Formats: sequence, C-alpha cells, structure tokens
Amino acid sequence: MNKERKTENLLLYNGRIYTQVPEAPFYQALGIAGGKIVWLGMDDELYQLPPDKFKIINLRGKTVLPSFFEAHMHFAFWAWSLGYIELSGCKSYQETLRAIKSRSQELERGQWLVGQGWFKDGWENPVWPHKKDLDRLVPNHPAVMMSRDQHAIWVNSRALLKAGIRADTPDPRGGEIVRDESGEPTGILKDTAAQQVYRIMKPPTDVRGSLLLKTAEMHAHSLGITGVASFDSIDGFRRVQSFHRKIGLKLRVSQFVPSDHLDELISLGIQSGFGDRFLRIQGVKYFADGALGSQTALMFQPYKGTKSDYGLALYDDDELKAEVKRCARSGLNVAIHAIGDRANRMALDAIIKAQGRSAGKFRNRIEHCQLLKKEDIERFGPHRIVGSVQPVQMPLDIDMIKKYWGRRGRYSYALKSMLRSGARLAFGSDAPIEPPNPLLNIYLAVSRHPRQTDKPFYPSERIRVEEAVFAHTYGGAYSVEQEKLFGSIKIGNFADLVILDKDLHCISPDQISHVEVLGTLLEGEFVYGKEYFQDW
Ligand SMILES: [Zn+2]
Repeated sequence: MNKERKTENLLLYNGRIYTQVPEAPFYQALGIAGGKIVWLGMDDELYQLPPDKFKIINLRGKTVLPSFFEAHMHFAFWAWSLGYIELSGCKSYQETLRAIKSRSQELERGQWLVGQGWFKDGWENPVWPHKKDLDRLVPNHPAVMMSRDQHAIWVNSRALLKAGIRADTPDPRGGEIVRDESGEPTGILKDTAAQQVYRIMKPPTDVRGSLLLKTAEMHAHSLGITGVASFDSIDGFRRVQSFHRKIGLKLRVSQFVPSDHLDELISLGIQSGFGDRFLRIQGVKYFADGALGSQTALMFQPYKGTKSDYGLALYDDDELKAEVKRCARSGLNVAIHAIGDRANRMALDAIIKAQGRSAGKFRNRIEHCQLLKKEDIERFGPHRIVGSVQPVQMPLDIDMIKKYWGRRGRYSYALKSMLRSGARLAFGSDAPIEPPNPLLNIYLAVSRHPRQTDKPFYPSERIRVEEAVFAHTYGGAYSVEQEKLFGSIKIGNFADLVILDKDLHCISPDQISHVEVLGTLLEGEFVYGKEYFQDW
C-alpha cells in the first residue's frame, strides 16, 4: 500500500552532510521536494534555489547521514519484546520477583506473562531462580522469564505443563532441562531446551500487537533507523502486513521468509522484491548451523576441550546446495545463518555454486559470519556476497569465543579482513537478542573495545568510522537490493535521513555511542525530532 504523503519542501543548510557516495562525499546543504532529494550543494550555492518554494532549516553545523538501516532483526518479535517486563535493572533475586509481581495482576485470561533481561551473576547474591517462586506470584498463567544472554529461560509450572516438559522428558541436543536431586525440573531451561516453550508461546492480541508495532517503529525512528531486514515468523509477518494495511508502516521492512515455506513461495511465483517500498519479501532464510553459546555452531575442528564435538550441521553440503539452487532458479535470494567456520564454508559453497558466473544478478547474504577461515574471507568480495554482521553482540560473545574457540577467534568478527576482500558489509543487531543501536554498532566495529576492563579484541580487525557508517547505511540498503532508492544522499533518492548532534568522523571513538540523534526523516518528513527543529 503506497499511501500518498503530502510533505513540505525542505531546504537544510549549514550542515555537515556525508553522502556515502564516493565521487561526491560531502555537502553543506540539501533540498527535498516530494519526499526526494532534489538538490545538493554548498552554503554559498543556495542562491540557485527559489527560496519561496522551501521551508528553510538551519542545521547549525549538525551532521546529516542517510538514515540507518538495521540489516538483521526480527521486527514483530522485537516489538512484542517491548511489552515484556524488563528485569535487567534488578539488583537481586528479591527485586526481580517484586518486578514480576507488580505486573502479574494485570493479565487477561490465557495471557502469558513474559519478562526479559535477568542476569543472576549481576545480583547481590547470585542464585539460580526457581519455578516455585514464580508459581507463587503467577499461579494461573504461564510465565516465562528470559535471561539477558538468551541462554536460559526461567518458567513456572504452568508453562512447563503447557510445553509438556516433565521429569522424564529427555534433554534435547544442545540444551538442558535443569533438574533438582529428585529429577524434578527446576524451571530453568537452557539453550535449545527453551525452544519447547518458545514454540507454544502465545503472541499478543491483534490490538495489542498493533500498539507494540507502532511503539517499535517510533523507537526505531528515535535511533535514526528507517529501514530493517526482518526475519519474522509467518505469524509475525502476517501481523506486520495487517498493521501496514490498517495503519501504514513508516518503516521500510524487507522480510526474509523461513525456508520451510520455500515451496509455497515458488508455487505462488513470488520473487525477491515482491511488495511495495515499505513492506516486501526479499528472500528466504536458511540455518546452516546452531549457535556458539550452546556449542552447536558447526566447526572444522572440535570445540576446545572436546575430542569430537564439531557442533551441529542442519544440512549436509549437497542438500544446502540444492536448496540455494532452487531459490536462485526461482528468483529468490537467500540469507543463510552461519556461525561456525565449517557452516560458513558450507554457506559460501552453496551460494557460489548457485550463482555460477552471474553473481551480479543476485543479492545473497550470510547472516552473522561469526567465524571464518582466512581462505573463505577472500570469497565474499569476488562473488558479491553480503556479510550481515552484528558488532553489538561482541560484548556477550567474547568470553565464549575465548572459551570454545581459543585462538581460532582471530577471524571472528573479521570486519577489516572482510572489507579488504571486497565484502559488502551490512550491520544489524538481531533484535530482540540485542536492542538495535546503530551508534553502538559503529563504536564497537571501530574500537572492538566492548568492555572498559578488557583490551580491544583483535585490534587489527578494527574498521574506520566511515566504513562502519557505510555498513549501517548504504550497506544495509544494498543487502536488500534497495540501494538505488535510499541508503545514500543522492539526487533522486528518497530523503531518508538522520541528523546527529556530533560529527562521528571528528570525535574520539568512545564518544560515538553517546552521540544524540536529533532528527530522523522518512521521505522528507520528520518522523522523529520535528519539535526540535521547529524554531531553527
Ligand atoms: Zn536473527
């Protein structure tokens, strides 16, 4: 649905405008009409424009970039998470229980109580939470509390019952149902064991869902984001479609459909790009392996401290090749989740085989690219494969990388090496795993210094500010084949822009994540910060 928007013509001047266009990287002034960029120049060239046709805004030296593109998130799932009880600020188990109690009164019939962010090692007296404490507070509704690192959930008896988890339920591969001495589940489910609960969790009602999607959209705007690549479930995608039909998205959403629906896509003849400029299908999402935390990422060499644990392959090489080939023949791009070095090899092999000699016709991506073999890094550039990475995950990953991968971690988050090979990078957060935060992403890519106490993590893989900004703007648009519409500041492109308080290129890296987003424009309309610029 393309709602016609009536927007004012704007003329922004006295700014520091970084275009992301190599041939013309910098301007001071910019004209917008009909939602698009119609003029670019320096302040002493403003006379070229008819002044009465534009509303004039003095940027007072502020910085303008193309608005940020968040290249990997789960939009609806993230929106739902904004309605969860936030437990990350709780300093003890008691405080955590109080926070849950305060929200347990307002539940409708059948509603799940969901919380997130508890972190026992950050409590005064670290103890594992127990289902019996949740049962006392929430006896009649299923309750699920997710840990901050997403590796454990704490549930009550009702949730266990609904998920069919009992004393005699075996641990799934890559997960653990924690039990007491008598074998009774304690309510803590680790890693893949949590899936059994996630699978049956009820999403919010339609009305509440729309409210949460609107909240998420506004939150994205406040971060300077106007576009996302979303990896929602079919239910999430359906909700986003309803929202778009009824209310109209003000966020560009490119959806990747889970691979178990490939047959439906093909039988309907749906190809990459189907939809409108706010909601479209961009491709198909595959999983080559699991995750590092549960040691299910697929490795060439066994995990440190094990003799034969190589992780988990979700496809064998030929199967994945056949799948990607089918997608390629059907006009569908793929995004393949790959964490371990062996999984990344498999994903690269499959994409390169399917693309054959026509890499230019495709926009295939690998999600996470977390650990690569040096020789595989070299393959991204020549085959035009997008590396979709999430530097914001670095702080929680580093300890695990050291513990499970040891020195192999050298080519983990190998951003500089990837760029050197000609890889196209696109930055994201994997929200709700981590909250979306482009400026933090940029800071971490530039500094690789996730915690004040540590040394930078393999500092030779640090990238420059302009490279990180590019990955969060043009790189993101490129990753969903939209770079001709937005992602750079160019005449004819949509005026999707972010205005920042400080120039990221001129401050010390540790200031970057503190820079304020002053305004966000979508097709020339302020979707955030309008009041701020009212009297400018
Ligand atoms: Zn994801």
